[in-house]
Amino acid sequence: MATKMDERLEFVYQEILKRNPGEAEFHQAVREVLESIGPVLTKYPEFRERKIIQRICEPERQIIFRVPWLDDRGEVQINRGFRVQFNSALGPYKGGLRFHPSVYLGIVKFLGFEQIFKNALTGLPIGGGKGGSDFDPKGKSDNEVMRFCQSFMTELWRYIGEYTDVPAGDIGVGGREIGYMFGQFKRLTSKYEAGVLTGKGLDWGGSLVRTEATGYGATFFVAEMLKARSDSFGGKTCTVSGSGNVAIYTVEKIHQLGGKVVACSDSDGVIHDDKGIDLELLKQLKERERRRISDYVGYRKHATYVAGGNIWAVPCQVAMPSATQNEINGKDAATLVKNGCIAVGEGANMPTTPEGIKVFLDAGIAYGPGKAANAGGVATSALEMQQNATRDSWTFEFTEQKLASIMRTIHQNCWETAEEFGSKGNYVVGANAAGFIKVAKAMVAHGLI
Ligand code: NDP
Repeated sequence: MATKMDERLEFVYQEILKRNPGEAEFHQAVREVLESIGPVLTKYPEFRERKIIQRICEPERQIIFRVPWLDDRGEVQINRGFRVQFNSALGPYKGGLRFHPSVYLGIVKFLGFEQIFKNALTGLPIGGGKGGSDFDPKGKSDNEVMRFCQSFMTELWRYIGEYTDVPAGDIGVGGREIGYMFGQFKRLTSKYEAGVLTGKGLDWGGSLVRTEATGYGATFFVAEMLKARSDSFGGKTCTVSGSGNVAIYTVEKIHQLGGKVVACSDSDGVIHDDKGIDLELLKQLKERERRRISDYVGYRKHATYVAGGNIWAVPCQVAMPSATQNEINGKDAATLVKNGCIAVGEGANMPTTPEGIKVFLDAGIAYGPGKAANAGGVATSALEMQQNATRDSWTFEFTEQKLASIMRTIHQNCWETAEEFGSKGNYVVGANAAGFIKVAKAMVAHGLI
């Protein structure tokens, strides 16, 4: 990442701050992109003349709505729903829904903004969007989650569709929630429009590998970064934060590629298992029984649990943050590097603060930003849309091969673009510049809209 923003872009950034007050995460995401694309504007002056940056930073449409629902005691609860349809230059808006108490417009906009460039990097015809709610699914009964999802969709359905906007999962939204939302969409529209949501169940329009895709894809991306340094996962000690969808399938793929994951976490604490995380136990506790990670040590007596612990203090050679934004700060990054970490691959979106990114880049380790590294999830969602459109379903092996090939291409594209703009080996510049150029060219072609 360039340390200083191009002067012309600093002015644009100040305007964006003024227009979007109080949205710290959105500002952070915008700043990172603007810091990378100075040289792009020199090569393509038409992007500046047509105010592509100002236009790309302004969502095409933002929808905010009330979500009332009844809890199990019969009490009325009210949450807020969001859908930000950020950019449709390359295809229908595409991006997940996040249900977490921290969700507000600034989080949805940061995620939607990142999604534009990530989706462009996949090479597939999808625009960028994101949504969600401040609803907290934790501790809620199945019936409460269903009533919430139905109420959420009762408003959202008018804005989405196979050719318009295709939501998927994110934090707090997995197969169960997608199922309830799809059911309600179908009921409201009287249409079986499979392509309206991705992450569906395998019996009713879902794609094999979608569940695994983000974690597998991030691991493939790190494998490519290691390969570029004539290295591999073989024998490497790894840590993976979180213990949700992305974390679980990151652990699975790292183990398949010969690495050993020794720690993972949730928002309450960290488990450390120096014999390697027991994947089946992790799946049982988190996927099937919806329990806390602390329960792991009840089954693996040699493992330890530290409430409120910091996973980045556990020594590792490869770190894969797979929980949430800003989970690695400058100090954590310095600890990782000091402990011998040589590669970081972001399964989560924006998990490293700008100070942390600087530490990684200055240390010259392989650092794969989320925009590139976790693009496998949305790429496989686009493959699900392809299968829905052709009423087809592909095998696991075929779909995984497609995912692996997409991740290889993203890696190569980031590598070559970074080199083209004078930042060899810097995947932040590579991902931001490559994603931006693709979207910007389409926007120029579409005229002033
Ligand atoms: P899940 O809800 O399945 O899991 C989230 C995990 O992260 C849980 O272990 C959760 O712990 C932990 N976590 C969430 N918020 C916090 C927090 N504030 N502090 C500490 N830990 C936290 O979500 P996913 O696995 O789907 O998503 C994880 C990350 O990956 C997110 O950044 C998401 O945006 C990103 N991502 C996901 C994709 C997907 O396909 N699902 C695609 C691309 C990126 P707890 O249970 O305690 O909350």
